Amino acid sequence: MTTPVRITVTGAAGQIGYALLFRLASGEVLGPDVPVRLGLLEIPAATRAAEGVAMELDDCAFPLLDGVDVFDDPRAAFDGTNLALLVGARPRGPGMERGDLLAANGAIFGPQGEAIGAGAADDVRVLVVGNPANTNALITAAHAPDVPRDRFTAMTRLDHNRALTQVARRADVPVGDVRRVTIWGNHSATQYPDVFHAEIAGRPAADVLHVPEDGAGWLTDDFVPTVAKRGAAIIEVRGGSSVASAANAALDHVHDWYRGTPEGDWTSAGVVSDGSYGVPEGLVSSFPVTARDGRFEIVQGLELNAFSRARLDASVAELAAERDTAASLALL
Ligand code: NDP
Repeated sequence: MTTPVRITVTGAAGQIGYALLFRLASGEVLGPDVPVRLGLLEIPAATRAAEGVAMELDDCAFPLLDGVDVFDDPRAAFDGTNLALLVGARPRGPGMERGDLLAANGAIFGPQGEAIGAGAADDVRVLVVGNPANTNALITAAHAPDVPRDRFTAMTRLDHNRALTQVARRADVPVGDVRRVTIWGNHSATQYPDVFHAEIAGRPAADVLHVPEDGAGWLTDDFVPTVAKRGAAIIEVRGGSSVASAANAALDHVHDWYRGTPEGDWTSAGVVSDGSYGVPEGLVSSFPVTARDGRFEIVQGLELNAFSRARLDASVAELAAERDTAASLALL
C-alpha cells in the first residue's frame, strides 16, 4: 500500500465532522487509490464521542482506511499531517460580541496553527470551516509563519454551491449548465455572490437572467440575500444548522484542491490575498480560483463593474475590521 495521506479533522465528534469523515475514508474525495489515515481532534469532553465515531469508521471496513486515531492534544493530532480540516469552533453564544467570538476562537486556532507549524508534513494543506472561517484561517496562518501562505484556506464553497443552484433555478436549467459563479469577500452576510462573469449553457448569465449593470431587481432583492442568508433559512426550516451540505462543500473544496477544477470553470475559496482585485495583501478573502497540481490560483483579469466593486469593498472592509480586532486582542 502507498503511504496513506494523513488527515486531521478537528471538532470530529460534531455534526459536520460526522457528515464528512466517512466520505473521506471511502475514497470518493482524494481518489479510489489513495489510502488515508484519519486523526480526530476533539476537546477532552468530546473525545469519548470521537472514539465512538472511530468505532463506526472501523465498522465500515473501508479498504482505503489505514487507521483512525483520536486526540485531545493539537501537537499530537497535527504531527505529520498532510491535510487539516479545522471544523471545531466556538459557536456564537447569546449576547456575544464579535470580539468575544474572535477571542474564544483565537484560543483554539492559535495553538492549532502553532501545532501545524511545528509538526505537520511539508505539503500540509489547511481548510478552515469553523466560523468566522476567514479570520480563523488568518489566525491559524499567523501562528505558522514557516508554512507557505497558499496552504491556508477558508471555506466559501457552500456559498458557491448555493449560488450555482439559485442561478440554475432562476434560469430553469440543470445546475450543471451553470459555470463561473463567484463568491467574493467574507463568509458572512456581507459576502458578494457575483453572476456578472457566470455563464448559463455557454451564454452570459446576466443576459439570460436580464440582470442590469447596476444589479437592480432580482440580483439585489432576491439572489444576493438568498445566498447570504441561506444558513439562517435552513435553521428555520430544518430546525438545525446546515450540516450535510456544509460537509459536502468542504469535501468539494478538498477534492478540487487535490484533483483540480474542471477545464473552463472555476470555484470559490477563501485564500490569502496577494493584493488581487484591490483586496489588501494578507487578508483571507474569497476569490474565484482555479486549482492545478495541488495549488489554488486566483483567476485574474475579471472586470468588476461599479456594483460589484462596491459589494466587494464592503465585504473586504468587514474582513479588515475583523483582522484589526484580532490584532488588538493579540491573536495575530
Ligand atoms: P458543527 O459540526 O455543526 O459546526 C462546526 C463549525 O462549522 C461551527 O463553527 C459552524 O459555524 C461551522 N460552519 C461553517 N460553515 C457552516 C455552515 N454552512 N453551516 C453550519 N455550520 C457551519 O458543530 P457541532 O457543535 O456539532 O460540533 C462542533 C464540535 O467541535 C464539537 O464536537 C466540539 O467539541 C468541537 N470543538 C473542537 C475543538 C477542537 O478540536 N480543539 C475546539 C472547539 C470545538 P457556525 O456555528 O457559526 O455556523
